[in-house]
Amino acid sequence: MRIEKAFCVELDRIVDIEQAREAYFAQNPQKRFTFLCSDEQCRSSNPGIGVRVSGVNYDKLPAVDEIFKTPHFRQLDVHSPSCYWVEIQEAESLDREHGDHDHHDLIRSLTEKGVSVITRFSVPKVSDPSAGTNGLMDENDEVDRIRRIQSREQRIAAYRGNR
Ligand SMILES: [Zn+2]
Repeated sequence: MRIEKAFCVELDRIVDIEQAREAYFAQNPQKRFTFLCSDEQCRSSNPGIGVRVSGVNYDKLPAVDEIFKTPHFRQLDVHSPSCYWVEIQEAESLDREHGDHDHHDLIRSLTEKGVSVITRFSVPKVSDPSAGTNGLMDENDEVDRIRRIQSREQRIAAYRGNR
């Protein structure tokens, strides 16, 4: 399962793997981080230890260490079915199985059930690059918006439409 962001316990914020690497090397002494799922409902679904995510190779320097895989997050524990990484993965595997043609059929079948489906997204354009936002943040806004959709079926359809 692809996990692009994780909640870093030590930093008390959500980071991508590049931010985790920067924060790791900014420490003195350097200490590996504990990561949990970035979906707050998912990570609280297991009150004992949370839903853990491994950070792979974020503590390595390409010039010094042999790196066989680029730094990334990897699933460690089972995630909640409503976790957005789980739903995005489900949307992606539906796309792979059925292709684009059936993607439209899925939307039609949802529409026939009287469910309103968002088929287009407008991503806000950033006019001033120095404003500090970038494409990644726009994408996150989109994910945040989809996460507020009540029905899981509609969310998965929305993730598929957003890709
Ligand atoms: Zn999760």
